[in-house]
Amino acid sequence: MCGIVGLVAQTTVNQRLYDALTVLQHRGQDAAGIATDDGGYLRLRKDNGLVRDVFRTKHMRKLMGTMGIGHCRYPTAGCASSAEAQPFYVNAPYGITLAHNGNLTNSDQLTKEVYQTDLRHVNTTSDSEVLLNVFAHELHVTADPEPTPEGVFRAVSEVHRRCRGAYAAVAMINGHGIVAFRDPKGIRPLIYGQRHTLQGVETMFASESVALDSLGYEVVRDVAPGEAIYVDRNGNVHEQQCAEAPTLSPCIFEHVYLARPDSFVDGISVYKARLRMGEKLAEKVMRLQPDHDIDVVMPIPDSGRTSALSMAVELGVKYREGFIKNRYIGRTFIMPGQTERRKSVRKKLNPIDLEFRGKVVCLVDDSIVRGTTCSQIIEMARQCGAKKVYYCSAAPPVRHPNVYGIDMPAAQELIAHDRSVDEVAAEIGADWLIYQDLDDLIECAQEGNPQIEEFECSVFDGRYITGDIDAGYLSDLEQARNDLAKAERESKKAAEAEV
Ligand code: AMP
Repeated sequence: MCGIVGLVAQTTVNQRLYDALTVLQHRGQDAAGIATDDGGYLRLRKDNGLVRDVFRTKHMRKLMGTMGIGHCRYPTAGCASSAEAQPFYVNAPYGITLAHNGNLTNSDQLTKEVYQTDLRHVNTTSDSEVLLNVFAHELHVTADPEPTPEGVFRAVSEVHRRCRGAYAAVAMINGHGIVAFRDPKGIRPLIYGQRHTLQGVETMFASESVALDSLGYEVVRDVAPGEAIYVDRNGNVHEQQCAEAPTLSPCIFEHVYLARPDSFVDGISVYKARLRMGEKLAEKVMRLQPDHDIDVVMPIPDSGRTSALSMAVELGVKYREGFIKNRYIGRTFIMPGQTERRKSVRKKLNPIDLEFRGKVVCLVDDSIVRGTTCSQIIEMARQCGAKKVYYCSAAPPVRHPNVYGIDMPAAQELIAHDRSVDEVAAEIGADWLIYQDLDDLIECAQEGNPQIEEFECSVFDGRYITGDIDAGYLSDLEQARNDLAKAERESKKAAEAEV
């Protein structure tokens, strides 16, 4: 998962792109980049690190121009080298930069095609650079001396024909405009908004509505699956459906964990969806044990907070914050190696003993992935004197890898991969483990937008909706994602940073 943003305005856009990226920072903390169009000249700054570290005043001064795109990266299919920070650039045709959120599932085959048939060179292992080259090639063959909306839409249609997987993208054509497009199933989110100023209308694209809100842009709507929206440098908006049979099947994990609670994704309030997840968990507890002995419901901060609150209210038991989070520590998930990850959980969360002593505590988190965090947390709760520790996950068991752009570990590293719920409970040391049912989770999201008939739920049900994922693909992925491979990538990155 990554955050993307694009802005066509009449005044300098660098500060607003920077601000939007900081609002989307939760979608990727590994690298950041901004490209602007300075009167037809490309300005580009990108590097590994948080948005606040990548852009210094000296960089911002150079990022001149009235349109631009930005990206913050969470490493997925590609590796963690700074060469893979986005936006990517190709000089032909016209000079194009692209920022992408998602993962192409036929990237290997496309890389060959791009080289052998399109005669283009891809210089990294990033599928986003492949996506850019496919788009650029298809725009090139229109042979228009200047890009036209029709040519841009034809190129996006060809991208849909050739590319598989998940992609929400913004591409800037130097001196001309920005096109935003979403894969034919709309797996990853993309929304746009506008602001009217004295100089005219400004249009902003972003991964999440929260970026539009906080910068004062009014949401117009989500980009539809398969659709392309091209905004020329004068602010004129051109829209076209470019896919043959688009259907909206958005990723349900956005609602569980990825998106900010103050965002609306495909018309669904993420916050409300999470509140409903807590209510459904409470219903499940009452169904399974109407005479339960829970004294207190406690969230795992921050991701379990919303569901824990509504669960406590629904059960009519106390809600307490027993764990306090140190905000100034990095995420545990992206650290290579289990030992590092375990140490880091302890540093990140500190318990308030009194809230646990002699109580039956019900801890609530958004999801259980590797099980590292919850095992440690349960242990801490017991050390603080909890009588019993129950654990709730607002999502069903995560049993399958993600191929659509979420940084999930290899299947063998997922604690629920080949275990029953009772086995997971024993493994993490919980007295009772309650997982959300998948049907309930879908209902929680769907209630926000009943027009969505299907969600992309592969991490829970192993069904890959693009229909192109076979055992061979999954076993290659397994190889690429295991901890060893990750550790090697990290050390390569560290070596690069030292140079
Ligand atoms: P663990 O079970 O120890 O792997 O950690 C689970 C926690 O990681 C959950 O509380 C989530 O908040 C968080 N989480 C879930 N998915 C991801 C992800 N793709 N990247 C980072 N953190 C995640």
